[in-house]
Amino acid sequence: MTPVGARPLVLVVEDEPALATLLRYNLEKEGFAVDEAADGGEALRRLAEQPPDLVLLDWMLPTLSGLEVCRQIRRKPETRSLPVIMLTARADAQDMVRGLNIGADDYVTKPFAMATLLARVRALLRRAGPAPAKETLSFADIALDQETHRVSRGGRAVALGPTEYRLLEFFLRHPRRVFSREEILDSLWGATIHVEPRTIDVHIRRLRKALNGEGEADFVRTVRAAGYALDTEEP
Ligand code: CA
Repeated sequence: MTPVGARPLVLVVEDEPALATLLRYNLEKEGFAVDEAADGGEALRRLAEQPPDLVLLDWMLPTLSGLEVCRQIRRKPETRSLPVIMLTARADAQDMVRGLNIGADDYVTKPFAMATLLARVRALLRRAGPAPAKETLSFADIALDQETHRVSRGGRAVALGPTEYRLLEFFLRHPRRVFSREEILDSLWGATIHVEPRTIDVHIRRLRKALNGEGEADFVRTVRAAGYALDTEEP
């Protein structure tokens, strides 16, 4: 999400290179920062790596349709309220209803006038309000600064690998909630990338090792047959 004063970031998901270029050119001219993805799978990866302020999402895409991408955006807590405008060549009202039902905020039919699209982008961003500032997430004596990516425990700096960082960030956003390995995988990598669920155990182990100093409590709770949670004590 965008820090105050920075340009809002728009993720353009479009498999036609000419249209993607045209969109980028016009959005940048309007003062937006632009990120691009040429297919559905790439869109989910870009969303996880660099969360935008708004998504322009083509309906017909290789690997994963725009509808499926939108469905996944709405399923994840981190992107649930992310503004999405669907772009489509289908002028069918039935399709429009389907797109909006799946959670798109707005819907633009190709071919469209660039001025119209830009007006819809601005309107939707206004409606969505300013993006929440990056904050420090904390639990007990653990703190994670989303701005600087620094993690500490009881004031002591904790060095984490990128995956362990995202894992901890995910737990800190939903403290005390139990997540299955599949849910954690889905949230960290997206459903399109196949990662063995047991991989999570390896990252959990690394996270614990980095977080827990001598004699310190282990807040990463293993819930037998269910998964993991960030919690203060065994039930
Ligand atoms: Ca397309």
